[in-house]
Amino acid sequence: MALDLDSYRDRAERFCEEIDREHYLHLSGRKRSFEIEAIYERHAGLFSSDAVEGLRETWLRSGDGEDGRAARHLLHFGFDGCLGQAVKAEATKLAELEASLEVEVESSSIPYRNIAVAQANEPDPERRGAIEAARDELLAEELNPLHLAALERVHELARELGWRSYREAYAELRGVDLEALAGQAREFLRATDAAYAEFADPELARAGVPPLGELRRSDLPRFFRAPGLDGLFPGEDLVGAFSETVAGLGIDLDAQENVHLDTESRPTKSSRAFCATPRVPEEVYLVISPVGGRDDYEALFHEGGHMEHYAHVDSRISFEGRRLGDNSVTESFAFLFEHLTEDPAWLAARLGVGEPEPVLRHARAVKLVMLRRYAAKIAYELELHGEAPRLAQMPARYVELLGGWTRVRWPGESWLADVDPGFYVACYLRAWALETAWRRSLHERFGERWFDSAHAGEWLRGLWRGGQRVDAEELLDETLGERLEFGVLAREFSRR
Ligand SMILES: [Zn+2]
Repeated sequence: MALDLDSYRDRAERFCEEIDREHYLHLSGRKRSFEIEAIYERHAGLFSSDAVEGLRETWLRSGDGEDGRAARHLLHFGFDGCLGQAVKAEATKLAELEASLEVEVESSSIPYRNIAVAQANEPDPERRGAIEAARDELLAEELNPLHLAALERVHELARELGWRSYREAYAELRGVDLEALAGQAREFLRATDAAYAEFADPELARAGVPPLGELRRSDLPRFFRAPGLDGLFPGEDLVGAFSETVAGLGIDLDAQENVHLDTESRPTKSSRAFCATPRVPEEVYLVISPVGGRDDYEALFHEGGHMEHYAHVDSRISFEGRRLGDNSVTESFAFLFEHLTEDPAWLAARLGVGEPEPVLRHARAVKLVMLRRYAAKIAYELELHGEAPRLAQMPARYVELLGGWTRVRWPGESWLADVDPGFYVACYLRAWALETAWRRSLHERFGERWFDSAHAGEWLRGLWRGGQRVDAEELLDETLGERLEFGVLAREFSRR
C-alpha cells in the first residue's frame, strides 16, 4: 500500500506539536504527570510497521537529492516514533519516577532531578559522594530495570524492521558514518591525551576538587559550577545579558512573540536546561533552572542558540525542513552562543570583565572534559547498540571507556541512563566541529565583536531560515566550502 505523504506530514506535525508540548509541561515542572501514552494512541497509525516500511520504500525510490534527504528525515521520524511507541509505558514510568523520587542524605531529601544542582552547590566532597551513592542505588533498584526493558525492546524492533542492528539503523537514518566519526573522536582523544592534565588539573585545584585520576564523577558538577567565578556572572544580569546579545545581532527579544523564556524554579523542573518546540517557528520555549554563576550563562546561551535558530526558521519550508533533519545543525548554533560566555570580547562588552583569563582557563578545561567524555561515549554506544551486544558486560565497558578516557572515577550504574536515544551523541560531536567553523568565519567577516554586528545577525538569520533542511556537511560545504572534520577541535588544545 502506497503511503499518502502529504497526509502523513500533516499528521506527523500534529503529533510533534502534542508530544513537545507535553515534554515542555512535564519537564518544566508545570505538570507532574507525563501523558504521552494517549498522544501515541491517537497517532498510532504514524508509527506502525507498515508506515515505517512505506517510508522506507519512498526513501529508497527517491535517490540522493533533496527529495531523498527529505524522505530520509521522514523515515527517521517514523522509526523514532515506532520505537517511542513501543516503549512509551517505560518512558512514562521513568519520567514519573524521576519527578517523584528523592534521595535521602544525612536526613535531608533531594528531589531526583535536583541531584546535579545539589552536587554543584555542595562544597563537601564526601556529601557529594553520598548523594551520588544514593542516586546510584535508585538507578540500580528502580530505574535501570525500566531502562533495560526499553533498550532490549528497541534493539529487537530495529531488527524486526529489517536492519542488522539499532546502530546500523541510526547510521543510515542520520546519513552518518558512525564508525568514521568514532575514529575521529579516538584520534582526538589521542591527540589531547598528553595535554589533558595540563589543562584540567590547575582548574580542578582552583575549584577545590581532586585532580584527574582521583576525581570522582560526583565532583564534576562542582567543577563545572566554578563558584570562584560567580562574581563575574551575576544572576540578576543573566537574562539581560542574553537579550542585549541578541539585540546586538539585530533581534528584539521582547518583540519576539514566538519565544518564551521559562527561568522560574519549580520542585520537579528538570535541572537539565532544554528548548521545546511545539510549533516551529511559531512556539518555542527555553527552559532553565538557574543555580547561579557561569553554569547558568552557559546553559541559557546554549538553549538560547536553539531558540533563536528555531524561531527564525522560514515558516514556508516543508515540515521535514522545519522540524526534522540533522540536529547537528541546531546544536552548532547552540554551541556558538554558548561559546560567547567564554569569549574575551563578549565578556568585556556584556559583563564588563577586564581580566577574562580565569574564565577562559576554566572554560577550556571544562570543554576538554566534555569533549573527551563524548568521544568516549560514542565508542561505548557503538558497542552497546551493535549487532549482538553482551549486555551483562556493558556496565563494566561503560566504566572502562568513560572513566578511562576522562580519568574520572565513573560509577557503572548510569550505563543506561547516560545514553541519549538514537545516537544523539553524534550530533553533539559534529556540532562542536561545525561551531568551530561558524565562529572562525564570523571573526573573519565581522571582527572579534561579531556579536555586536547587525550584519553578522543577518548572516546568521540567513542560515537559520533554512532550518535543518540540509545536513551539517552539506550546509558547511554550501556556506563556507569546507569539509566537516572533528579533528579541528584538537587544535584548540595544542600544548602551551
Ligand atoms: Zn543543545
